[in-house]
Amino acid sequence: MKEKIYTIPVNEAFDAHDECPFCFLERQVEQRTIKYTIGPGASYMEPEVRLATDREGFCGAHYKKLFDYENPLGSALIMQTYFVSLFEEMSKQMDQYQIPGKRSLFSKKQDTGDSPLVTWVRQKQSSCFICNKIEYNMERYYATFFHLCKDPEFRAKVEGSKGFCMRHFLRLMEEAPDKVPGGQQEWFYPTVFRLMRENMARVKGDLDWFIDKFDYRNASADWKNSRDAVQRTMQKLQGIYPADPPFKSEPR
Ligand SMILES: [Zn+2]
Ligand SMILES: [Zn+2]
Repeated sequence: MKEKIYTIPVNEAFDAHDECPFCFLERQVEQRTIKYTIGPGASYMEPEVRLATDREGFCGAHYKKLFDYENPLGSALIMQTYFVSLFEEMSKQMDQYQIPGKRSLFSKKQDTGDSPLVTWVRQKQSSCFICNKIEYNMERYYATFFHLCKDPEFRAKVEGSKGFCMRHFLRLMEEAPDKVPGGQQEWFYPTVFRLMRENMARVKGDLDWFIDKFDYRNASADWKNSRDAVQRTMQKLQGIYPADPPFKSEPR
C-alpha cells in the first residue's frame, strides 16, 4: 500500500499490544491534535485555523484537555473570537424565537419537534474542532485497517493482538459489512469474535484476581497481571485510558 502515512501508525498500533489498537491510534491523534491546536506552533494565531475553531467550537471533554495542556492565554484567545459568532447566532435565534404559549397537559402528543433555537444550541454544544480532526483521521485508519487485512503478515498481527474495546468493536461491526470483501469475511468475523471472547475473558480474569487480592488470605500472593486491571477493564468497556496523566505542554 502506497499511503505509508496511514499504514505505519496502524501497524505500530498492532505492534504496541495495547488492549485496543484503535484506542492507541485515537490517543495518538488526539494528543497530536491538542498540540497542534494550542501548542508551540501557535496555529491558533493563523486566521484560517481560528475561523475553523470559531465555527466548530469544542466539546466539554476537549475544553478540559485544552485547559490541562497549560496554555491559558492560547485558550483565552481561541474562546474570545468564538464569542463573536456565538453572540451573533444566539441573538438571531432569540429574535426569531416563537414563544410557544402555555401547553395544555393533554396536547403534548401534538408537539412537533424541537424549536430552531433548541436545534441550534444542540448543534453548537455537540460540535468540536478536535473531535472532528480525530474523526477525520480515524476514518482513514479504519479504511487502512480493512485494506491491510488482505495481507497475511498483517492478519497474523491481528490474530496475535489483544482484541478491541467495546467502543471500537462497535465501529468495526458497523463498517465491516461494507468494507470486508466477500472472500475475506470467513477470516474476519471468526477472528474478531475469537479475539473479543478470549480477551474480554482475560481482562475479566485479571479483574477477578484484583478483587481477590483484597482478601487477607491472598495478601502475600502474586498480583499476576492484575495491578492495573481496573483501568484496563474501563478501557475494554468504553475505550478510555483513565490512568493517563493530563497531556501537558513540555516544559521549556
Ligand atoms: Zn478502543
Ligand atoms: Zn471534542
